[in-house]
Amino acid sequence: MKEGKLIVVSGPSGVGKDTIVNKYLEKHSEDELSISMTSRPIRDGEVNGVNYYFKTKEEFEEAIKNNEMLEFALYNGNYYGTPKAEVEERIKNGINVILVIEVVGAMNVKNIMGDKCTLIFIMPPSMEVLKNRLMNRGTDSKESIEGRLDIAKKEIGISDKYDFIIINDNLEKAVRDLENVIKNNIN
Ligand code: ADP
Ligand code: 5GP
Repeated sequence: MKEGKLIVVSGPSGVGKDTIVNKYLEKHSEDELSISMTSRPIRDGEVNGVNYYFKTKEEFEEAIKNNEMLEFALYNGNYYGTPKAEVEERIKNGINVILVIEVVGAMNVKNIMGDKCTLIFIMPPSMEVLKNRLMNRGTDSKESIEGRLDIAKKEIGISDKYDFIIINDNLEKAVRDLENVIKNNIN
């Protein structure tokens, strides 16, 4: 059987990664999302095992020690990472897996997986729009938003390392762009 591919989606916090990927997956149930592990606190409305596997810092460090992570990174003071077993199983079964992860983890996945992986960066129309989206989402404290905007500038600075860049201005267009990249350039 033909192996599945890894589709890595990155971009600053608040740019719309989850919104775009969820809309894509509503139409393309043949592809699947990797559920990450994190040590950050759970937000209102999030569900353990759906949005993330929420762990303590100690549990996360144990998983790293046991070689259970495909990649991981520290982001704004918390661990985030991709559990290896689920991804490997799906790829072996011919399923494309989407990882929505930050840039350090994305670069590590590229190093490990090489041609099996395609990197897509979602870009905001401007920093002002990005700040407004983070504030309107209403899920992060003022301090967390400031940290996320600082990280965003660094992330945008390495977007040229990605295979494709999609600007999320009009949401429907961004979803179509993602569909085009995946269907025309992957498989
Ligand atoms: P990320 O996953 O990148 O952190 P989200 O998907 O949570 O970002 O989106 C951040 C906020 O921006 C959400 O409130 C979402 O509804 C909103 N949003 C996403 N895309 C657009 C868009 N194209 N135009 C306006 N608002 C958007
Ligand atoms: P949030 O706290 O907003 O859910 O996520 C913060 C950042 O961590 C986002 O850029 C998100 O894409 C990234 N992230 C989520 N899961 C993972 C993961 O498994 N690995 C890495 N490296 N980053 C992740």
